[in-house]
Amino acid sequence: MSENRNPEPLNFIHNIINDDLKNNKNNGRVHTRFPPEPNGHLHIGHAKSICLNFGVAQAYAGGICNLRFDDTNPENEEAEYAALIQNDLRWLGFDWGNHLFHVSDYYATLFEYAKLLIHAGKAYVCHLKVDEIRQYRGTLTAPGKPSPYRERSVAENLDLFERMRAGEFAEGECLLRAKIDMASPNINMRDPAIYRIRKMAHYRTGNNWCIYPMYDYAHCISDALEGITHSLCTLEFEDHRPLYDWFLDQLPVPCHPQQIEFSRLNLSYTVTSKRQLNALVAAGYVSGWDDPRMPTIGGMRRRGFTPAAIRDFCYRIGVTKKDTVIDVGALENCVREDLDKHARRVLGVLDPLKVIIENYPEDETEYLDAPYHPNNPDMGQRQLPFSKVLYIEKSDFMETPPKKFFRLSPGREVRLRYAYFITCNEVVKDDAGNIVALRCTYDPETRGGNAPDGRKVKGTIHWVSAAQALQTEVRLYDRLFNDPRPDNKHGSDWQSMLNPHSMRVIKDAYLEPTLAEAKKEDIFQFERTGYFCVDNKDGREGKPIFNRTVTLRDSWARAKDK
Ligand code: ATP
Ligand code: MG
Repeated sequence: MSENRNPEPLNFIHNIINDDLKNNKNNGRVHTRFPPEPNGHLHIGHAKSICLNFGVAQAYAGGICNLRFDDTNPENEEAEYAALIQNDLRWLGFDWGNHLFHVSDYYATLFEYAKLLIHAGKAYVCHLKVDEIRQYRGTLTAPGKPSPYRERSVAENLDLFERMRAGEFAEGECLLRAKIDMASPNINMRDPAIYRIRKMAHYRTGNNWCIYPMYDYAHCISDALEGITHSLCTLEFEDHRPLYDWFLDQLPVPCHPQQIEFSRLNLSYTVTSKRQLNALVAAGYVSGWDDPRMPTIGGMRRRGFTPAAIRDFCYRIGVTKKDTVIDVGALENCVREDLDKHARRVLGVLDPLKVIIENYPEDETEYLDAPYHPNNPDMGQRQLPFSKVLYIEKSDFMETPPKKFFRLSPGREVRLRYAYFITCNEVVKDDAGNIVALRCTYDPETRGGNAPDGRKVKGTIHWVSAAQALQTEVRLYDRLFNDPRPDNKHGSDWQSMLNPHSMRVIKDAYLEPTLAEAKKEDIFQFERTGYFCVDNKDGREGKPIFNRTVTLRDSWARAKDK
């Protein structure tokens, strides 16, 4: 018997599996699957399902997780999406080995199984039109009534079904339906469709088929054919479970997997349905599926969210049957926690104010040692050029500072990170009275940031040397929505829920020169400012563009507290 070796917190699904293993159900095997439809990009909701399915498989010795493309709907499905999904999964850190499957590979078997159902008197070809089927189906409170085609003979049904497959009928003209119970309190059991006609090429099977199996029929059989032991799905499918079991009970399948439902991920300030994400792209609210504000894997990657942080989030929120909304701040905190440990810390000025060091020689540049991480010497160090003209952040200077402002102001001394103490002597203004520069002096004795006489300064600020700075674009991203539940209100006015400040572009930020060599997707902490990731699309060699991943602290929580 395999034992649970999952380092992640136990959830109710582990309990079920542990019991199954104890009882030697499935001969001690644990086999899950992740079944995306190749019709869009993966998002954070999918990540939860991915971490669960692959996580469960990893938790047990010999556990396996299949990647199965649920490609039963030729409309909108594309090889390109399938490739993207595999790419995203690998990036997230999951490996399906050679366990890659497609429902379209089972079309022949699914067709033969459908004929077995007809032979057994458990399926029939129905010529009701779509709206008639709806009328016949009944409601939650009223039973349905049988289709007039329900009592067709086996021979007639077989003949009609073969003719459906041969393309003799038009789309919508007829369906193959399971013959179960039109009076069932569960509407899913009222003779659900098994096959429908769709005269459309499929990205893998071309024009081989003009009938396509329905999800409920294809999914359970695919699970069984692959030897899945635990078929984990979201709660919407709870009412479909009797149908899942019914199909498998009728057919000569190799095994009968157990469907277990869990609650889907809902995230505040976020929409997580392909349809809604698609609408955002189509309306041009974002630049594409991988816009850094999108909760897609591609968007989060471009934003600087790491695979480790996303996995950590998925494990921390746990798996239950409760319908909850997770605060998106929890995801952002996982990102901060991971980046705090791993991101190199650098200096960058986003909103520059010129500082002239009056007692520094005109044409001199010196280089100062600066570690990439204060607590991790393994991350190494670089040298920062220092010269007469520097930039500091505008917000680090106040001409008439309030009480608790410890940064630069006239007559005040502060530390320039890794460099020197400087004192501000004079504020230079233009004719309109705007501050254009500060005249300062530095104390050569304080090289490295400490005074030999032991005098202290209260403020330490970041800076860059003007002559060597990398001048480049920085994009400040924030949440796409102002409304905590935009997904509940689709159809209503989305535009009014969008955060007008979700992207702010700074054309000319001044960053320390080492950043010119940063590669796509490198992530840094700009000290005192936030985490920033090199955009993986825009920018060019020597001139990377930086996306703000997250601020250093949760500014939303602070704003709410106020
Ligand atoms: P969407 O609602 O975005 O269209 P979907 O369920 O139609 O998603 P699929 O490609 O069929 O998209 O999803 C693959 C798997 O991911 C399914 O097993 C589904 O249950 C799971 N999944 C999708 N969204 C979520 C979510 N928000 N939370 C947890 N699991 C999810
Ligand atoms: Mg689906």
